[in-house]
Amino acid sequence: MTREDVLKKVKEFNIRFIRLQFTDILGIPKNVSITANQLEKALNGELMFDGSSIEGFVRIQESDMYLRPDINTFLVFPWRPVEEGAVARIICDIYNANGTPFIGDPRYILKQVLKEAAEMGYIMNVGPEAEFYLFHTDTDGSPTLNTHDKAGYFDLSPLDLGEAAKRDMILILEKIGFEIEAAHHEVGNGQHEIDFKYSHALDVADKIITFKTVVRIIAQRHGLHATFMPKPIFGAAGNGMHMNISLFKDGKNIFWDPQAPDQLSETALQFIAGVMKHARAIAAITNPTVNSYKRLISGYEAPIYIAWSAGNRSPLIRIPAKRGLSTRIELRNPDPSCNPYLALAVTLKAGLAGIKEKLAPPPPYNANIYELTDEERLEHKIEKLPVSLGEALEELSKDQLLIEALGPHVYQRYMAAKTAEWQDYCTQVHQWEIDRYLATF
Ligand code: GLN
Ligand code: MG
Ligand code: MG
Ligand code: MG
Repeated sequence: MTREDVLKKVKEFNIRFIRLQFTDILGIPKNVSITANQLEKALNGELMFDGSSIEGFVRIQESDMYLRPDINTFLVFPWRPVEEGAVARIICDIYNANGTPFIGDPRYILKQVLKEAAEMGYIMNVGPEAEFYLFHTDTDGSPTLNTHDKAGYFDLSPLDLGEAAKRDMILILEKIGFEIEAAHHEVGNGQHEIDFKYSHALDVADKIITFKTVVRIIAQRHGLHATFMPKPIFGAAGNGMHMNISLFKDGKNIFWDPQAPDQLSETALQFIAGVMKHARAIAAITNPTVNSYKRLISGYEAPIYIAWSAGNRSPLIRIPAKRGLSTRIELRNPDPSCNPYLALAVTLKAGLAGIKEKLAPPPPYNANIYELTDEERLEHKIEKLPVSLGEALEELSKDQLLIEALGPHVYQRYMAAKTAEWQDYCTQVHQWEIDRYLATF
């Protein structure tokens, strides 16, 4: 996509508004709308915005920031009739007033680690598997926890609202350049998964943000609420976002070695070892909410132990059976509430460190790890993932490698925001406590 292509498309689709999009450190997409006649100026990186009101960005005194559109991310949102004037978006990088990149921009943080990988000759490819629930809304349009599955059953409606919504989501995603590989109902009532083809990490992080937006908007058009909240319902499966990761060098997947045991290269093993070594701190980024840790419990195919395995779905890392170009590791703890830029940045940083330090992972653990007793776990030296956001933040604060990957700005702002979130939660009196203690004591 060139500058000329963009300007041509804007004419062709009668585009009136263009959304300049970026992501705050918590992974929430933000945008500034401009009219089409401002586009040239925007493409020159001349558009300024006030960064002081964006979570984790800058203080009021230094609030002038510039958006530099990444032309490759230009796309026309296909859900508005052309007569109304279509809407397009471009994802932007954020620059300081003095022309240097803003180190608080999550996209920049990922780019930095990708650069480090590139210096070693590597490209990171990622295939995400984001899960979500579709819930009904109430008469005010607010989300409920009732799923369409149940309603379909009681209604005797011939149409499963969820299926129709999912079909539309897929069609729209394909229109805007996603290659959808699989879509299926997940374990929970009303829970779904849509998988798109792997791509290089920056593109995938951008796509995850777009994906969630599309899923939400299309759900809304079907009168449903889509949620990526990690564990919306006690006792039901949580929403994960497995990351299938591989490194490519000169067009070859270097996680594959046809001669090696299991056909997994030494580099792949070192990468696994690096991720496992830093897994407890990585969780603070890949599992960033209080609710994330309600998902990481035994019995719901979500990991709780830091182990890896070829077939088993209970550990942190699984190696899917495919080899050749598709050889990859599946990291199973991330959930879709994470900031995908930061999540991929810290995971890659840890994997690269594993390669540089030539680390070796422990032997794979192939039995059902949920059934492990504490004694067996200690004997196999299998560590646990953090059980709360508080514990994960504590781990992050001790992990110099990850702190370096995030850079001082993002690290400090992220810690401050997440510590406040954790403390806020801890000081609440929850319904569970009332039910459990009010009558007893
Ligand atoms: N929902 C599960 C999780 O929380 C994953 C289920 C699966 O995809 N096998 O990670
Ligand atoms: Mg899947
Ligand atoms: Mg799944
Ligand atoms: Mg999976």
